Amino acid sequence: MKIKAAVLEKINSPLVVEDVELGDLSSGQVLVKILVSGICGAQLQEIAGNKGNAKYVPHLLGHEGCGIVEKIGEGVTRVEKGDKVVIHWRKGEGMESDFPEYVFRGKTIRSGKSTTFGEYSIVSENRVTPVPQDTPNDFCALLGCGLSTALGAISTEASMRPGERIMIIGLGGLGACLIKAAKFYRAGKIVGLDIYENKKEVVSGLGGDLFINSAKEDIAEKLGRELGVADVDIIVDTSGHAGMISATIPLLADGGRYIMVGQSKPGDSVEIKMANHLFGKDYGKTIKATQGGGFMPTRDIPIYVKAYREGLLDIDNLITHRTKLNDINKAIELMRAGKANRIIIDL
Ligand SMILES: [Zn+2]
Repeated sequence: MKIKAAVLEKINSPLVVEDVELGDLSSGQVLVKILVSGICGAQLQEIAGNKGNAKYVPHLLGHEGCGIVEKIGEGVTRVEKGDKVVIHWRKGEGMESDFPEYVFRGKTIRSGKSTTFGEYSIVSENRVTPVPQDTPNDFCALLGCGLSTALGAISTEASMRPGERIMIIGLGGLGACLIKAAKFYRAGKIVGLDIYENKKEVVSGLGGDLFINSAKEDIAEKLGRELGVADVDIIVDTSGHAGMISATIPLLADGGRYIMVGQSKPGDSVEIKMANHLFGKDYGKTIKATQGGGFMPTRDIPIYVKAYREGLLDIDNLITHRTKLNDINKAIELMRAGKANRIIIDL
């Protein structure tokens, strides 16, 4: 079966949208017709070769999507033909299959255990989770990575209590999802920090309280002036920028939690200035790195779907652009320029 897919042929080059041939389903694999896919910052990192992936090119990309199961391989029990599924990169229950194979320009190439930048995709059973048929496609795609990572970072990793102050560093797609997640868990004040002035509207549009332009403003001074206190209970960094992490660790309040979601470049060091502040007055502070917010798809997706259906969790203004697969490189440029929250590909 021939399908159109976006292939990372060379590191640091535009993706190639071309026909690829799908291999046969092996044990534990599921064939999914992709309806929509999100584009995650992780794919920008993969295109740049920052994820240790250079040795695997050419390969297929994308790890958050929504689709319909077309066919199941041997041993698959958790989904059947016709099911609507969320495609995610974190492992859920079910079989862990071999790496899916495709033929690109006459050569066999592989994808990760989940991939979404194509009309159809072969996915390991433990990377799909079924949802009710009437769950909106875009919401399902966001549950594959961005929104689930954000919800997990705030609840599972930071254990945020209602009323706490949170600062989110880096307002790309994940940062935008973090503002929504902070609202969902009833943060007291939500502060967004970025180096692009256009993110001020992003913060207010998503329901955040305060924007700080870290390229122009003194963070502690603005926090103090606008919130009456110069520290926050929770900081979530999506930038991975070592200098920014070093500069903001001292802004943690007593008992505060610093959650690193964005990965620093290999070899970078983060400095803990005036380290004894970490002991706090009454409660010590925590610095923690997370993989995908500790998101557990089989456990968490039904909870998030229920919250969405009850109107408690909204995705208003999270998706700023839509694209066709053929224009995926233009969409990636918009993300690089800091001009998009989440972009959805219509397959
Ligand atoms: Zn992702």
